[in-house]
Amino acid sequence: MESNSFNDPSLFGECSVPVKVGRKSKPGPTVVDVKGIKFGSAEVVIIAGPCSVENREQMMETAKAVKSAGGVILRGGAFKPRSSPYNFQGLGEEGLKLLQETRIETGLPIVTEVMDTRMVDLVAGYADIMQVGSRNMQNYPLLKEVGMLRKPVLLKRGMMSTIEEFLLAAEYILNQGNEQVILCERGIRTFETSTRNTLDLSAVPMLKHLSHLPVIVDPSHGTGHRWMVPPMAKAAVAAGADGLIMEVHYKPQEALCDGHQSLSTDEFTLLMTDLKKIAQAVGRDIYTHEIK
Ligand code: PEP
Ligand code: MN
Repeated sequence: MESNSFNDPSLFGECSVPVKVGRKSKPGPTVVDVKGIKFGSAEVVIIAGPCSVENREQMMETAKAVKSAGGVILRGGAFKPRSSPYNFQGLGEEGLKLLQETRIETGLPIVTEVMDTRMVDLVAGYADIMQVGSRNMQNYPLLKEVGMLRKPVLLKRGMMSTIEEFLLAAEYILNQGNEQVILCERGIRTFETSTRNTLDLSAVPMLKHLSHLPVIVDPSHGTGHRWMVPPMAKAAVAAGADGLIMEVHYKPQEALCDGHQSLSTDEFTLLMTDLKKIAQAVGRDIYTHEIK
């Protein structure tokens, strides 16, 4: 019978079957390089931007503020996984084009979500990092498709997924030959209703203990409350996260999606100052190098 190493209580520590995401297969950290910006190094990488791409002004104004505050990668969804089919679904390819324009204007690399295997080539033509969202973490055909690319993948933890399932999802990508995977803790569903999700910060040291892949945290979807983003962002950096992805909007009150959990550009700027102090207190720094 095939042995299932994942049932071993020590998970990847003592497993007999080679697991590509596990520390046993690679003791040193995997560094994912996005145009010279390194995830998994001593420096913490800050990704910020709106939940979804809405229009040119929104993207340009938000991206410029993100950049001047020290954010180095821009987020923005063109294809949005919305719970209701009647809500804004994203601008699709037009959104990808706006992301590209914003990258040309600001120099910030782009992370955007791919929801469907049929869209992988299209999205890969625009994105610097391919995001696989929480709802698609166990979409195995999609994981295999992005695994065939030679482009970084941001894999978000399924909202109902264990650490084991999360790492096995990443394993699908590595199995296709793509080792440039960034893991993202974005909160899980629990009995708690005061927050949108329960941000599992214990996943950060656990994932780093088990795997060589870089780990980032999304305190925006992880809490669902704008005012909770700064404290949880700071806690994530203190817990050893290699980066953060946060929703920032130049007019959060007018956002078409997730405005309630989006920081204003002023709030983001203030937070960046605090994050620097936290990073330095734990022997790291915030990545601020010039974009290559
Ligand atoms: C997002 O980052 O835009 C998003 C939809 O997040 P998640 O997949 O974590 O819900
Ligand atoms: Mn969102």
